[in-house]
Amino acid sequence: MASLADQILDRFDAVLKKMRETNPAVDEARVRQAFAYAEKAHGAQLRKDGTPFISHPLAAAEIAQEMGLDEDSIIAALLHDCIEDTGATYQDIAARFGTSVADIVEGVTKLTRVQYTSKEEEQMENLRKMLMAMAKDIRVILIKIADRLHNMRTMEYQSVPKQKEKARETMEIYAPIAHRLGMQKIKWELEDLSFFYLDRHAYDEITQALDKRRETLEVFMKNVREQVTRRLEDNGIRCTVQGRMKHMYSIYRKMYAQNKVLDEVFDLCAFRVIVDNIADCYNVLGHIHDMFRPIPGRFKDYIGTPKPNMYQSLHTTVIGEDGIPFEVQIRTWEMHHTAEYGIAAHWKYKSGGSGLRAGDEEKFAWIRRLLESQQDSDAQDFFHDLKIDMFADEVFVFTPRGDVINLPAGATPIDFAYNIHSAIGNRMVGALVNGRIVPFEHVLKNGDIVEIQTSNTSKGPGRDWMNIVKSSEARNKIKQWYKREKRDENVMHGRNAFEAEMKRQGLSTEPLSLQGPALRQALKKLSFATLEDAYAAIGYGGLTAQKAVNRLREELIQSARPEKTILDRINAQKPKPVRAVSGIIVEGLDNCLVKFSRCCTPVPGDDIVGFITRGYGVSIHRADCSNYLNSAARPEDSGRWVGVSWAPGESDTYQTALSIAAKDRDNLVLDMATALSAMKVKVRSLAARAVGGGMAAASISLEVRSKEELDAAINKLYAVSGVLEIRRTAN
Ligand code: MN
Repeated sequence: MASLADQILDRFDAVLKKMRETNPAVDEARVRQAFAYAEKAHGAQLRKDGTPFISHPLAAAEIAQEMGLDEDSIIAALLHDCIEDTGATYQDIAARFGTSVADIVEGVTKLTRVQYTSKEEEQMENLRKMLMAMAKDIRVILIKIADRLHNMRTMEYQSVPKQKEKARETMEIYAPIAHRLGMQKIKWELEDLSFFYLDRHAYDEITQALDKRRETLEVFMKNVREQVTRRLEDNGIRCTVQGRMKHMYSIYRKMYAQNKVLDEVFDLCAFRVIVDNIADCYNVLGHIHDMFRPIPGRFKDYIGTPKPNMYQSLHTTVIGEDGIPFEVQIRTWEMHHTAEYGIAAHWKYKSGGSGLRAGDEEKFAWIRRLLESQQDSDAQDFFHDLKIDMFADEVFVFTPRGDVINLPAGATPIDFAYNIHSAIGNRMVGALVNGRIVPFEHVLKNGDIVEIQTSNTSKGPGRDWMNIVKSSEARNKIKQWYKREKRDENVMHGRNAFEAEMKRQGLSTEPLSLQGPALRQALKKLSFATLEDAYAAIGYGGLTAQKAVNRLREELIQSARPEKTILDRINAQKPKPVRAVSGIIVEGLDNCLVKFSRCCTPVPGDDIVGFITRGYGVSIHRADCSNYLNSAARPEDSGRWVGVSWAPGESDTYQTALSIAAKDRDNLVLDMATALSAMKVKVRSLAARAVGGGMAAASISLEVRSKEELDAAINKLYAVSGVLEIRRTAN
């Protein structure tokens, strides 16, 4: 038995041999060098199963070869873990094998570093990265798929959590991508391997159930195969008829979706008829439908209308002799290769077996098809599968170099330009989309290749661009440019816009109206120091002319109106009691400023009146205040007194003052303070002084809630020895 090392060398030689067969011009020395390089780089590294690490990149290369990938891809597959796992660098690989190989290896490395997560949001981000990788160079994703396929095949040596994690990721991301790339064979294998690790129980159940039926099914398949082959050969059609069991995961899905047990799932097997040319495909279809009863509505012509992943075949479902329905796919050999290996096979055919040398044009055409989700339902399914519906409000476009730029839906070439760099946007003079000159407001579609023409003599972004762009990023950058570069011009444009708006609103633009308190007030409210600043802001789009003019107009109207006295307002309004501030209701006056007079310090419970002052609101006096009594007698003041009342339920405290006459004695102040504190009345000041003749005058400032409380306090004070007379302070 050959040693492990010999087995590996044999496998590598087999890859080389197959490469030679597909492309006689293959540079064998270069491929050998890559193998040796990877072997040396990985050194004594072992895989979890104990085999030398090189067996993994070699397996990836085998899969890449099977896919029909080109020499660079197979070399990249051999090197795909070098940057990630060994000391090898991009530069080193580029120097030895060229930048094309190094770019692929680097791309695969980046994808490897993308952390899978089951969090929806982060998954989106991962998918986005995958899409971008695909867009840059499809070979990156193809090799990543080869890498993943081999890892899934050898997953048994990993820990259970790792198995589950990788299986889920494969099921949710790699299998759908393989499907979309038309790589059915790989998709099925990825699905079945993932299924095995994700639901081992169901997997075993289906395996056992199938095993029980295997014999019957195999007999059935053999019969159908022979019947069809005979019939077609009798009619001179060269064909290969294959019968196969459907793959595990598709059976599982069918059971799950239709809530059936295996016995109830009829179409466990499928047949494929492969012929030499398209005409024969339709001939075969006729014979099949003649031999078996077709199920209506199940015929699909993917030859006339290929799937977006380039899949072509005729599909029909018929019912066999014993009532078992089965599907038949009819295709040519070329279609068959495309179905098995998808995009890779397609390119191989197109470029005459010389590998992936397809031009950018074709690369982008493919991506365009991938991203054009609206047009066809299959692509929609794909997007649904990938759970990237959230891309609906975004559009993916490409730089001429193939970098993916994503923009909000409805974005224009201007958005694109500013997304690349503000310097590109600011110097933009034209745009080409898919090679055609388009207007600046052209709406970009998924897959468009956008090229921006710039000029150093460009005068900068157009002012109307701000209304055209879709992304706030672009809008802000344009604003910034105007703010920074063009103050004088902004001021001029701003003034023009402002004056035009003034005229539109029927306002005079004479200098008079642009000066004075109204303008100052308007500017203040708009937060500008000077009119020029406001013009500049209008110029670069930070303020609309309309808003500025509206504000000024309001201030002009305000100042043109003769100042109304509060009385005017009272007379203009229907008298109605309205809650006012500070526990006072002023008849017929809404929310006016209220203050308490210092002369008589009223408290709730006192009879009060209000005096309308000029500019200070309503002043509240006690009805017995001498100021009120004197004023009310004067005819010029009489109209300014209004009825006021205490609002019920107020619990504010009110400051008032008392004057006390008492016999002068020791501890008079202390006794008064003690009396008040027993009542929990808040004393703000308390002072007494001798006034001669054995008498003292005391003044107390205190806070009470009501007249009752004040009266109680007064009574308490009368009880203090020596107190002769207490008066509320009032002039
Ligand atoms: Mn790997």
